[in-house]
Amino acid sequence: MLRKMTDVDVKEGLKVILSRINEACKRRTPELESVEPRLVAVSKTKPVKLIIEAYEGGQRHFGENYVQELEEKAYNADILEKCKDIRWHFIGHLQTNKVNKVLCFPNIYLIETVDSEKLATTLNKNWPKFGPPDSKLKVMIQVNTSGEEEKNGIDPAEVCNLTKYVLNECSNLQLDGLMTIGRFGYNPEDGPNPDFLCLKSCRDEICQALDLDWKNINLSMGMSDDFEHAIELGSTNVRVGSSLFGFRPRKVRK
Ligand SMILES: *Cc1c(COP(=O)(O)O)cnc(C)c1O
Repeated sequence: MLRKMTDVDVKEGLKVILSRINEACKRRTPELESVEPRLVAVSKTKPVKLIIEAYEGGQRHFGENYVQELEEKAYNADILEKCKDIRWHFIGHLQTNKVNKVLCFPNIYLIETVDSEKLATTLNKNWPKFGPPDSKLKVMIQVNTSGEEEKNGIDPAEVCNLTKYVLNECSNLQLDGLMTIGRFGYNPEDGPNPDFLCLKSCRDEICQALDLDWKNINLSMGMSDDFEHAIELGSTNVRVGSSLFGFRPRKVRK
């Protein structure tokens, strides 16, 4: 039987995910007790109707990974009217020639995928033209923790340099954290996910080298299949799509 995309009960799904997040928090070490992980609802390929339902259920942070799709949603009249406090996270690969487009989107909140000085420079230079006066654009540095060639993100060995660059040379950017996608299909029963451990050790490294407080550096890691595991390992920003919005057919890439 064919399942319609709009058949899911998003509000109910949201409650379930939030309670699973809550339970996972209880399994963490005491040093993480004060940290509340943020849920980013990944709405890619999903209709506006479901975004509004999730928003009405209390969800504020949403993630999209294609510029054009985010454009359609960010400017959607119903979203603008009903979701005034929506916070968009851009979680896809961002080409520098699309930066200006993304920076004008209403309610753009955070770019999770900064992985080069070039991109940081472009974001930094252009944000003042689009953002509120004297504001800073929040960014995360995306790390390729699995070393897979097809994955975007900077090499773990380069994270410290890029962090230093963002902090010292990009006065219009605010470093919000580090982000990884990690290898697909890792089974947490095999032990702590090495990608998550790697991202955490990148954070330790930059905090030590640059004298930063780790509590100010978010770790964006964990998706539908492993967000609880990621939280147990210190994630503060989980990006959950299909577990919340229902099954998502794979996008056919042209
Ligand atoms: C699609 C996507 C997600 C969510 O994936 P699910 O497995 O559906 O939860 C998270 N992060 C990124 C970068 C994505 O592209």
